[in-house]
Amino acid sequence: MVKPYEPEFEQAYDELVSALEDSTLFEELPKYKKVIPVVSVPERLIQFRVTWENDKGEIETNNGFRVQFNSALGPYKGGLRFHPSVNLSILKFLGFEQIFKNALTGLSMGGGKGGSDFDPKGRSDAEIRRFCTSFMRQLARYIGQDTDVPAGDIGVGGREIGFLFGAYKAMQNNWSGVLTGKGLTWGGSLIRPEATGYGLIYYVEKMIEKASNGKETFAGKTVAVSGSGNVAQYAALKLIELGATVVSLSDSKGTITTTSGITAEQIKEIGDAKLKFKSLEEIIKSPTFAGVEYSAGERPWTKFEKLDVALPCATQNEVSGDEAKALVAAGVKFVAEGSNMGSTKEAIEVFEANRASGVWYAPGKASNCGGVAVSGLEMAQNSHRVRWTSEEVDEKLKNIMSNCFDSCYATALKYTAAKDGELPSLLKGANIAGFIKVADAM
Ligand code: GLU
Repeated sequence: MVKPYEPEFEQAYDELVSALEDSTLFEELPKYKKVIPVVSVPERLIQFRVTWENDKGEIETNNGFRVQFNSALGPYKGGLRFHPSVNLSILKFLGFEQIFKNALTGLSMGGGKGGSDFDPKGRSDAEIRRFCTSFMRQLARYIGQDTDVPAGDIGVGGREIGFLFGAYKAMQNNWSGVLTGKGLTWGGSLIRPEATGYGLIYYVEKMIEKASNGKETFAGKTVAVSGSGNVAQYAALKLIELGATVVSLSDSKGTITTTSGITAEQIKEIGDAKLKFKSLEEIIKSPTFAGVEYSAGERPWTKFEKLDVALPCATQNEVSGDEAKALVAAGVKFVAEGSNMGSTKEAIEVFEANRASGVWYAPGKASNCGGVAVSGLEMAQNSHRVRWTSEEVDEKLKNIMSNCFDSCYATALKYTAAKDGELPSLLKGANIAGFIKVADAM
């Protein structure tokens, strides 16, 4: 069969397969090799038309998708992305990553992803609501709390989940945990908005602890963060709480930097303004941002001479090979993705090649699994008709991130050869550990 042109999906597939081939797994257990051609084909691909009415009374049309990739471990689970770049290659890559990420949480969730090429930027609340209602009119028949449970991703936050949930409930006459990331009044979980960002920081805390034999923490470290959406905001807030200095944030148009550190007050203002689709360039005109610099058209990675940690939290392929070299030259020791496939193949090669000199890279499927993990906890609370406190959810999230790190680390030690004194590859550990879990279930 002639394969469609799916560069993002192929990149995600190659990352997994090269990690497996570059380990002793297939030598020790050849049966696992047979799983690859099966796991790389989605169980089901759904594509539908979404027609909706804009504020001028005109009909607009978008493409809607749901990729139900793998249900070996549980109901399909994964977010919805609303962004003009959305196409099948992007959703297949995200769905594929989601299978192994969800496995790494240790919870019972299969992998899926969906979304639309609808661009919410600049749309009114009423337009977003009408789009979400039309989108759900098509999607509702394919999902269910034990079948497929969507959530948010880029362009889909609490507001959109609320519109989607209301539409589902009205259409199906069914109040269930069919979506996660819901508002608290509809059965949402405390800590879900914070979960991806907090989870990322909990994962990197483990990396720092392990690499320094328990001698170092985030306190005093200089951290570059990209993005300014949900993941970046809560990662930055947790970093500030832990005594680190957050020297950057970014959006699709440019980067803000400050050597004295972004403050919690500034992050709150960014969070409010981003809901109204304001750009960082506009936001930093407010007096709260005195001393913060803006670089149009740039990403944070080349802007610093000295850095300890880099956290890509924007979107896929947001770190190039040259930018990775700049990070290594600036002294970065820890790189972990809050975004999905944040690093290009070339960037990953640079990070992995520098492992011997203490650079440690964690792929998104491990370091950002906190978001979907708390989605899993939301499903559990909905099924039990209970609500856990913030402290309970946060504690469970910490445990999940800690177990995820331990599993990546131990699996890397078991199946890959690290040279003397070299840190084991979390890239390989994460891919192998996630894969084994799914393959065993299949
Ligand atoms: N979109 C998030 C992710 O990439 C969360 C998915 C979910 O909560 O289902 O993992």
